[in-house]
Amino acid sequence: MRLFEYEGKELLRRAGLATMPEKTAATVEEAVSAAALLGYPVVVKAQVLSGGRGKAGAVKLVRDETSLRDAAAAILGMTIKGEVCETLLVAKAADIARELYAGITLDAATGAPVLIFSTEGGVDIETVAETAPEKVRKRPLSTLEMPRRHEILEDMRLAGVHGDMLPKVTTAVQQLIAAFFTHDCTTLEINPLAVLADGSCIALDAKAVIDDSALKRQSVVKTGNMALPELEMRAAAAGVNYVRLEGNVAVIASGAGLAMASMDIVNACGCRTASFLDTGGGITSANMAEALRVTLATPGVEGVLINIFAGINNCAEVARGIALVVDEDNPTAALAVRMRGHSQEEGWALLEARGIPVIRHGATEEAVRQLAALLEGR
Ligand code: GDP
Ligand code: MN
Repeated sequence: MRLFEYEGKELLRRAGLATMPEKTAATVEEAVSAAALLGYPVVVKAQVLSGGRGKAGAVKLVRDETSLRDAAAAILGMTIKGEVCETLLVAKAADIARELYAGITLDAATGAPVLIFSTEGGVDIETVAETAPEKVRKRPLSTLEMPRRHEILEDMRLAGVHGDMLPKVTTAVQQLIAAFFTHDCTTLEINPLAVLADGSCIALDAKAVIDDSALKRQSVVKTGNMALPELEMRAAAAGVNYVRLEGNVAVIASGAGLAMASMDIVNACGCRTASFLDTGGGITSANMAEALRVTLATPGVEGVLINIFAGINNCAEVARGIALVVDEDNPTAALAVRMRGHSQEEGWALLEARGIPVIRHGATEEAVRQLAALLEGR
C-alpha cells in the first residue's frame, strides 16, 4: 500500500528522523489557519501518491497569506498523473543548504532490500543513476542483521559527505533503515534529505510503500488517516486486487499473470487499459459484482474485458455476479467475457441470456477484437 507524504513522514518521525513542523489541510481556509500557526514562509504541497509534484507545479513556497490562498486554491483539485489532489500539506519552509537522496527499495535482481544514497538529491534518482552513476552508492541490506554504524559512515564518506554533516547524515540513514524494517516497507525514500543552513538534517519528502501482506500487523495503517482512494478501498474490501490506469478498456481476470497478458493484448489492439483487476481464486458472486462495479466506476471506462479461467473459481458464480450488475445497474459500458472451466455451461447461459458476448473457446485476442468492434460501433 502506498502512503501519502504526510503518512510516510510519520513512519520516519517514529524512527527519530526530523521533519519540518507541518499540518494537512483539505480547504483553503484550513491551509490559511495552518500557515498562521506554523509561521511564514511555508511550502504548500499536493498530497497525491505519484511523485514529480514539484515539476507539476504542485509544490509552492509562499511568503504571505495572499500568495498562500492562490497556491492552495490552485493545487486543491489539481489532477496530477490522473489523481485528483484532495489534501494539502502545509509545512514550515526549510532553509536548504544541500539536497541529498536516501532510499531503500527491493532490488529486482536479488529480491532483497538495497540502500541507495546520493549527494545529488531533489532530482530523479533514476536520472542521476543514468547520467552520473558514480554519484549513486548502493548497499545490499540483510533482513537478519542491521548494518553497523561504521559501515554506513564509510558509505556516506565515499559518497562525498564530509565534515559536520557526516555524523548527522549517517544517523538519518540509520533511522531510515530502521523505519523501513519496522514498518515492513517495500520502498521507503527520502528525496530530498535536506541539510539545512544550521547543519541539521531533515526529511523534506517521503515516499513509502508498505508490503500489503504485512498490513495486518502494521498498526500505523489503522490510524484512519491512511485512507485509500474510494475505489481501491472497495476493491480491497471485496478481496480483489485493483489498480487504476488511464485508458478506456478495463481488464478483469482470474490471476495477475492472466490480467497482465490481457492488458498487453488490449494495448496491442490499439486500446488502452483503464484498470487492472485480479479476482484471485474462489470469488463469490457478491465480490464479483463489487469488482465489476468498482471497474465500471473507474473514470474513462468504455469497455470491460472479463477473462476467467476457472479452476478454483466457479464460472456460474462469476456469471451470477456479472448478471447482478447488468440487471440492477444497466451499465452503459460494453462487456465481453471469455470464460471457461468449472461450471462453464451454466455461466455462459446466464450471460448469453442477457446479450453479453461470450467467447467460449477462442483466444483472448478474439475477445478483445469483439470488444473493440462493440466500441467502434458506438
Ligand atoms: P516532489 O517533486 O514530488 O518530489 O516534491 P518534494 O517535496 O520533494 O519537493 C520538490 C522540491 O521542492 C524539493 O526538491 C525542494 O527543492 C523544494 N522544496 C520542498 N520543500 C521545500 C522547503 O521547505 N524549502 C525550500 N526552499 N524548498 C523546498
Ligand atoms: Mn521529492
